[in-house]
Amino acid sequence: MRIDIITVLPELLKSPLSYSIIKRARDKSLAEIVIHDLRRYGKGKYRQVDDYSFGGDAGMVLMIEPVCRLMEELKKERPYDEIIYTSPDGVPFNQKEANRISCLKNIIILCGHYKGVDQRIRDHLITKEISIGDYVLSGGELAAAVITDAVVRLLPGALNDETSALTDSFQDDLLAPPVYTRPSEFMGWKVPDVLLSGNPEKIRQWQEEKSLDRTERLRPDLLHNTDNG
Ligand code: SAH
Repeated sequence: MRIDIITVLPELLKSPLSYSIIKRARDKSLAEIVIHDLRRYGKGKYRQVDDYSFGGDAGMVLMIEPVCRLMEELKKERPYDEIIYTSPDGVPFNQKEANRISCLKNIIILCGHYKGVDQRIRDHLITKEISIGDYVLSGGELAAAVITDAVVRLLPGALNDETSALTDSFQDDLLAPPVYTRPSEFMGWKVPDVLLSGNPEKIRQWQEEKSLDRTERLRPDLLHNTDNG
């Protein structure tokens, strides 16, 4: 899978996408992540990428020309399945959407900044708008990092134990069960006996029960959700 991210702050994205599972996926060429500095496509001597908004509202707006030029260049190289804009008024991001995107081949993610982007970018160049939650970030970079991380770890081979993504929270509209590691007893606090029993069937049953308990208690909405995506 290839992910092209367009940003005015490439430095902000480098570190979150260079460690752990994402690093391994990149090293193994499961994911090619290319960060593009929009300023390289800016206008004039000062590489201008933003301007005042028409109508006089406070705050700068990313201009359409640099974004369009960069996207046209990318689209000449390969077809894109989705061109995403990160936006607080987009559809809420969730595990189902992460699963869907992980099956695509090439995507672009555009990070907004300042007041946002010229509406014509959203109307004519963007195919999907995604929000990572009901709050406002300073820029789309952290949202792009969140989306990329959630998607890339799902690519086959990215996780050491490939089945482990299946037992993560939300995969079956259920939260993950509790997990423990050594020591089996700490200050009198014990690991549940069943986990030390060596009986895989019993352990699986216990995990299912705990998953269900937890979901009922913390996120009952997931259990009664007919469309979680
Ligand atoms: N004026 C805009 C917010 C601009 S915030 C509004 O009220 O809708 C600057 C940029 O940060 C946005 O263009 C978007 O790309 C990004 N951003 C902010 N909050 C976000 C969120 N919850 N999810 C995804 N992207 C977000």
